[in-house]
Amino acid sequence: MVEAPAILLIEDDERGYTRTRALLRESFGDQLKLDWVRVWDETHAAIQEEAHDIYLVDYQLGRRDGVDLISAMSKIRFAAPFIVLTDNDCQEVDAEAMKSGAADYLVKSEITAPLLARAIRYAIERKRVERRLTFLAECDTLTGLANRAVFHSRLADAIAQAHRNDSVMAVLLLDLDQFKDVNDTLGHPVGDLLIQQAAKRLSQCTRASDTVARLGGDEFAVVATNLAQTEDITVLARKISEDLAEPFDLDGNLISTSASIGNTVYPLDNGDPHQILKHADLALYQAKRTSRGSFHYYDAELNAQAQQRKWLENQMRTALESQQFILYYQPKVNIVGGEVVGAEVLLRWRHPECGMVGPAQFIPIAESTGLIVPLGEWVVREASKQCVAWRRQGLPPIPLAINVSAVQFRRSELVESIAEIIEETQIDPTWLELEITESMIMDRVDPMMALLHRLHEIGIRLAIDDFGTGHSSLSYLRRFSVDTLKIDRSFVRNVENDADDATIAKAIISLGKSLNLRVIAEGVETERQLDFLREHGCEEAQGFFFSRPVSADDFAGWYRENEHCIGSANRVAILANEIDVSR
Ligand code: GH3
Ligand code: MG
Repeated sequence: MVEAPAILLIEDDERGYTRTRALLRESFGDQLKLDWVRVWDETHAAIQEEAHDIYLVDYQLGRRDGVDLISAMSKIRFAAPFIVLTDNDCQEVDAEAMKSGAADYLVKSEITAPLLARAIRYAIERKRVERRLTFLAECDTLTGLANRAVFHSRLADAIAQAHRNDSVMAVLLLDLDQFKDVNDTLGHPVGDLLIQQAAKRLSQCTRASDTVARLGGDEFAVVATNLAQTEDITVLARKISEDLAEPFDLDGNLISTSASIGNTVYPLDNGDPHQILKHADLALYQAKRTSRGSFHYYDAELNAQAQQRKWLENQMRTALESQQFILYYQPKVNIVGGEVVGAEVLLRWRHPECGMVGPAQFIPIAESTGLIVPLGEWVVREASKQCVAWRRQGLPPIPLAINVSAVQFRRSELVESIAEIIEETQIDPTWLELEITESMIMDRVDPMMALLHRLHEIGIRLAIDDFGTGHSSLSYLRRFSVDTLKIDRSFVRNVENDADDATIAKAIISLGKSLNLRVIAEGVETERQLDFLREHGCEEAQGFFFSRPVSADDFAGWYRENEHCIGSANRVAILANEIDVSR
């Protein structure tokens, strides 16, 4: 038999109580669980206890009657459904009762035992279904936490409240670190367990008035309201961070994880819910980038950067078509014989409003948006055309070194696209050199080895840029089809006064020689640096000492003015320097 419901009767008249009890006894017999209160204040307290499955409410309760009572009832959050009992049938009361949320409305003179029992059963069952529906609509089914929709509405409420009360409110956004590993190594069900247990710990860290939500995947959010001071949020973030770092027991698997957290605090960070959430997200992103398991505050500076980035990203989409990119060329000089041995191609963005945008600003964006691929292709094509054009203008071949991004190398079509450009522009492929960094090679040794080999086969030369800053293994260096090592500017800068840097520069030069590679020093700015390099057998260099990167026309001009100086390195250098200074 189904257990009898716990009933609370709210009725000021003793005779009414006796009558109702008799009716209920008929249905529930000895099982009957009936409590009775007679005044409003007691009612309120009893409802707060949430100990009953249903409330039976007399429409006339002491001095409170009718509308008054019902409107008082409608202001209370009920755990259980309520049925209104009245002395006489009245349409208005019926409607009133329904509006206030009553499950039913019964006229006392018409009530029979089965009718009352049925009304009670129906009301309870309906409430149960209603609760289930609410749960499904508002909660994340895996963890029982609030879902994203509820989180958004609570966040909006919390901001409005903080604004009204001049109080402090915060949003914490957190994401488990390397959660995919758990899924991958122990399976999805164990991953689910981790999400559930993390949700539980998170709830335990927070107060009942805070909202804890699962936004999806391994991402959670907390809205913390009524903080006494902004520092409280640091305390909370630290507590969460520490609690989640404790090992989890997932079906016998002891797993350690951590969470990265992004915080933002209202009113320090002022905005609508959408903005505030975006800011917390930005802080989370920053936390992930800095170090997993850390927490990070949103800061406006960061936001300004992100917005600038977004803006540049949009601008960049049209920049290629509207020909805002241009190539600059920096000569490479043989410092023994004095001849110009080539140039490095440098990409510049001439923005119609901002002027020159430096590659450090736009290359990372181009890489993250994938724009680097068409842009990189454009650079190779433009440079090849230029090289051929100079040749037609009577200049000797000027080999061009082009920087290539790791993103381009990850695309399988790189070799084909370069081969196509060679075909199209009729450039001699040996006049093209691609500059790659050590880390690009070391991150993906095998595929890179194959790619570099294919490039080499079509005649392209290859240089390792920033050499000395990464961790190339010498044995690899031999196996890669590399032609040139480029000594990073950071060593060149200090060769005169830092013994370590001088040693490294010397080591790279002799390493290059022993492997039969060309060695070029970049960032040469002074004559003393030049002397050092020459003295230790480095044969090529580039840098402000000779020339800044210049436009194609200026480069041709510079070249013509300097070509007579071949054979006299210092004269080239001095002349070049003079041109440069006057520019
Ligand atoms: P990071 O440190 O950068 O946060 O990396 P991560 O491995 O934690 O991966 P990320 O947060 O980017 O992605 C979360 C992963 O969670 C993606 C998805 O495979 C997995 N996932 C999403 N929903 C569920 C789920 O309901 N159950 C389980 N077991 N895994 C889920
Ligand atoms: Mg994660």
